[in-house]
Amino acid sequence: MKRLIFMGPPGAGKGTQADIVKEKFKIPQISTGDMLRVAVKNGTAMGLEAKKFMDAGDLVPDAVVIGIIRDRLVETDCANGFILDGFPRTVEQAKALSGILKELRMELDSVVNLDVPDEELVKRLLGRAIKEGRSDDNEETIKNRLHTYNTKTLPLIDFYKGTGILRQINGLGSMEEITDSILKQIQ
Ligand code: ADP
Repeated sequence: MKRLIFMGPPGAGKGTQADIVKEKFKIPQISTGDMLRVAVKNGTAMGLEAKKFMDAGDLVPDAVVIGIIRDRLVETDCANGFILDGFPRTVEQAKALSGILKELRMELDSVVNLDVPDEELVKRLLGRAIKEGRSDDNEETIKNRLHTYNTKTLPLIDFYKGTGILRQINGLGSMEEITDSILKQIQ
């Protein structure tokens, strides 16, 4: 049983590592980015609203993602733990999450922060743009996503530092090395 948050700038490898770690602990990976992309694809009202922000590289409003997470965490498969991948991304979201978890009588085990320098992130994201063709992986949007991360999400590191469960991981290295250091730090 593990309740984990994976944090890190766009391109840090959160999703990739969360994918591996969820298999190990048999827990669901909850990616707000993935859930929002599904809503966009299905053309729901929420998807249409979210798309404007995503295509610009801005954050979708807190109320929208907090609602998504609230609905998801009460599902039965989260009773044995979960990995939040890409949520929270603002202090407001982190505070809302604390409230939701308290209501559900759940406690977080670890907040994993993958640290990767900006120059490397831009390289990786441009590479991914060519391979996957995600509509928010162009140079302009990438720059804005990094800026958004640095201004809105980085303050979360301090928010979680005080809790004693923050695990700082060097996100440079091979996929296996990074998985190893995550597993060592969350055991
Ligand atoms: P990346 O980490 O590479 O930016 P994600 O798939 O996590 O990719 O997110 C893609 C986009 O979805 C973000 O740029 C943002 O617009 C939106 N998004 C995802 N999660 C959140 C969140 N927790 N709060 C606000 N917006 C979010």
